[in-house]
Amino acid sequence: MPIQSQEDSGAAPGPWQAFPMRLQAAFLPLLFVVLHGALLIVGGRHAWLVSLIFLTLAPLMAGAACLYRARQGGFARGWLALAIAMLLWAGGMAGNLFSGIVLDSWSGVGALSMLLFILYGVPIILVLAVPEREPWPVRLIDAALALALGYLFFRHTFALASMADTSAANVVSLRLMFDIENLYIVLFALIRFHASANSAQRAFFGSLAIYALLYLATAAFINHLHSDVYYGQWPDLAIGLPFLILAGLALAESGGAVSRASRGFEQVVRAGGPLMLPATLLTVSAVLVRTHPLHAIAGCAAAILGYGLRTIWVQVRHLDVHDRLERLTLVDPLTGLGNRRQFDDSLRREWARARRTGQGVALLMIDVDHFKMLNDAYGHPVGDRRLHEVAEALAGCATRGADIVVRYGGEEFAAIVPAVTPEQATLLAEVMRIAVERLDLPSPAPAGRVTVSIGVGHIDHVAGDDVAALTAAADAALYEAKQRGRNRTMAHAAAR
Ligand code: GH3
Ligand code: MG
Ligand code: MG
Repeated sequence: MPIQSQEDSGAAPGPWQAFPMRLQAAFLPLLFVVLHGALLIVGGRHAWLVSLIFLTLAPLMAGAACLYRARQGGFARGWLALAIAMLLWAGGMAGNLFSGIVLDSWSGVGALSMLLFILYGVPIILVLAVPEREPWPVRLIDAALALALGYLFFRHTFALASMADTSAANVVSLRLMFDIENLYIVLFALIRFHASANSAQRAFFGSLAIYALLYLATAAFINHLHSDVYYGQWPDLAIGLPFLILAGLALAESGGAVSRASRGFEQVVRAGGPLMLPATLLTVSAVLVRTHPLHAIAGCAAAILGYGLRTIWVQVRHLDVHDRLERLTLVDPLTGLGNRRQFDDSLRREWARARRTGQGVALLMIDVDHFKMLNDAYGHPVGDRRLHEVAEALAGCATRGADIVVRYGGEEFAAIVPAVTPEQATLLAEVMRIAVERLDLPSPAPAGRVTVSIGVGHIDHVAGDDVAALTAAADAALYEAKQRGRNRTMAHAAAR
């Protein structure tokens, strides 16, 4: 069953349901289209100029709206990237305007415009690929991949643009590059939208998905059906539309939305996000393989290397988190000794080892005497410090590498002592008891200082699976030590 985000409640508006509501904010943009259309009619011979001016202004308006939205907070990086993309696109159209007025022909400026139109997708793909704040090494890798992508676009565009006649095959290749880029953006935006964990990201990716789909449709319509018509015609109104809608979306209030995606899908998208940039790079390299084989190979190598380096970094981070979590689950934070969980694991392991090797194993249960009195007299924080000092003293006595000292719980400790005789185990217990006594920690107990009682359970020949016999023996011995006046060691052999 899909897990719902706890952040908001109620039905989540999808990008399409929210569309009419958001359209209200697009009143000004619609006015813009009407004005553009009216001036196209009266523009006559200069209609192309009207269109180029309006088509430079449209992305600039969208960019300004995105900047405004970025300043409002809520996934500001995304809106900022979109604003940069708008600026690149406006730059491309301004280049067309310039060559139209000044140069009046297809030229280097025309090629530069073409490059800006393609580069416009790079900041968008970057923000789609890296929606979280990543540390600088990862951002460096992503930036390098984005640069490589931009460079391949550059090679591709200029190679084609420099061929003065722009043959039919080259135009097809250029269109293919646009289509691939636009399609990637739509797909990635939709995936991100469905996997967004919070409402700000969801609003951003929802708006981006709507805009990118309109842009894809418009670009396909213009590039494939109207490519031989120059500016100044009715289709120009369609070119400006996606930008105007984006401006409306950026300015629209977006209600609290929730992620409806299952947690599994969200995790797959988060983990798969880093693949987006290399995947785009690989696709663009594939398009280039015929005209620029060396660049295509370099592009593939950069994609694989970048993805590999990123994966290594993520692996290292996960191993680190894994180690820290494992430590948290096995270590007692107050004393730094192993905790009850580690005790259970260790006892099971040592028991199995003793059964294999035929050697004896001992368990020492160590309980601080009259600890409640100490707590009551000096307070809990002092009690905690005493526990820490006792733990250090006990651990200091376990000089054999194989001995395991843990905090069993409360003011009780335990030591698992493999491969010993009952005498050796009892001797170790005595060493521990005396070590604590010698700390000479003041206590309101009758002894006047902190002492421990120790019960030693020992089994010299492990046969079955039942560890309980050993713990029962240690418990019984501890009980006896307490009964006999505390600050002493008693030993019991476990029943076989
Ligand atoms: P006995 O000699 O019979 O063992 O007497 P005792 O007072 O030590 O035994 P009892 O089990 O009655 O009390 C144990 C006390 O240990 C009670 C509890 O407040 C204290 N204690 C358990 N865990 C902690 C801890 O993490 N910090 C502190 N300061 N005290 C603890
Ligand atoms: Mg106790
Ligand atoms: Mg006690």
